[in-house]
Amino acid sequence: MPMRMRADLVVIGGGIVGLAAADAWLHRNPQGSVIVIEKEPQLAAHASGRNSGVLHAGFYYAPDSLKARLTRQGNAQLRDFCAEAGIAVRATGKVVVAQSEDELPALRELHKRAVANGVEVELIDEQQLRALEPLARTHGSALWSPTTAVADPTAVVEALAARVLARGGLLLKGTEVLGAGPGWVRTAKYGEISAGHIINAAGLYADVVAHWFGVGTDYRMLPFKGLYWYGSWEPGRLTRHVYPVPDARNPFLGVHLTVTVHGRAKIGPTAIPALWREDYGGIHGISAAETLDIARTYPRFFTSKDHDVAGLMRSELPKYSRKHLVRQAASLVPSVRVEDFTEKGRVGVRAQLFHLPSKKLEMDFVVEQGEASTHILNAVSPGWTSSLAFAGYVIDAVMG
Ligand SMILES: Cc1cc2nc3c(=O)[nH]c(=O)nc-3n(C[C@H](O)[C@H](O)[C@H](O)COP(=O)(O)OP(=O)(O)OC[C@H]3O[C@@H](n4cnc5c(N)ncnc54)[C@H](O)[C@@H]3O)c2cc1C
Repeated sequence: MPMRMRADLVVIGGGIVGLAAADAWLHRNPQGSVIVIEKEPQLAAHASGRNSGVLHAGFYYAPDSLKARLTRQGNAQLRDFCAEAGIAVRATGKVVVAQSEDELPALRELHKRAVANGVEVELIDEQQLRALEPLARTHGSALWSPTTAVADPTAVVEALAARVLARGGLLLKGTEVLGAGPGWVRTAKYGEISAGHIINAAGLYADVVAHWFGVGTDYRMLPFKGLYWYGSWEPGRLTRHVYPVPDARNPFLGVHLTVTVHGRAKIGPTAIPALWREDYGGIHGISAAETLDIARTYPRFFTSKDHDVAGLMRSELPKYSRKHLVRQAASLVPSVRVEDFTEKGRVGVRAQLFHLPSKKLEMDFVVEQGEASTHILNAVSPGWTSSLAFAGYVIDAVMG
């Protein structure tokens, strides 16, 4: 009978968060053994490769939140990592623009948060905005964030996986964890694998894995779909990311325009309710059980008093229409035309955690400890930017 595999640390999920956790653990325990188990045959198949690649600066988040603490730090760490790995980072910066007088108090609030979070930003007037990004329009003031940038998210995931391997970690791709409990995980390919400690970084399935350990049972994943449309503009026409003032009651940032690392303009992502976890379009990953569970959870969300759910649905559902979405973006950048944004981008699904008793979408990262296990339950945006700092925080908690 073949020997059972064993590692000091087993990580379920080889997205950016799982890889960063493995990397941080090996950095601190160079003699330790780590196995990262990823169900897909290729890396970056889910959120870590299907995001905007924006290195966020960290000004949106409440000053006492993990996001506030870990994003500014994560932005700097990710830049250093990219420089080390030879991955290009485009220094786009970002402007947040107001569409009316009514949005100016929220814009000033963002500025206050940035100051509280130690993030460099500046309130600028219309003329200064024109100098920074001639295509964008604002009402009165805008917020300028020089440390927001962009990189290729898949390249970052691949380089981080290479560092985990170089540090002596083992990466089992194409291997789904079918069950787990304190000290063990079960796979079809390798049978049962023993683990000193388990980190659950399963993204869209983090709630399911946590429930195997009796952890996070008050939580369910509510997946939200992010659609993108690329512009046919010549690269470099839009130079800055352009975002609206977000609705602070919801965890999403509203339709925005970003510039890719190659200089292309892109509109999105949306935050449309998904019908199952890997609902990227077509029937891939379709699951009747998941759809039923999500259909049971949504009515609770609809009665939440903490979010403007009706407003969210009114604004998000019509965004299935490309024309509608592109027209929305035109209120930030008036030269955007429906006929110029016709190339569909890779759809992403946000693994947004919902707390059943309070009916709240969790706004912050959520990490819970179980027996010989750590569960990363809400690695939502900006989880890609924050990943290296977030992993440091998680490994500190694991090592006590
Ligand atoms: C549309 C969109 C746009 C975004 N834009 C940005 C942005 O611009 N900037 C930013 O900082 N963040 C952004 N984010 C957020 C960012 O992508 C996530 O925070 C981050 O990728 C989360 O990483 P993860 O490793 O937790 O998840 P994932 O990348 O989903 O990784 C989890 C992995 O676990 C694997 N897995 C699941 N179950 C099992 C199992 N049973 N066995 C084995 N493996 C399993 C999955 O296959 C997957 O690869 C965006 C997200 C979305 C969806």
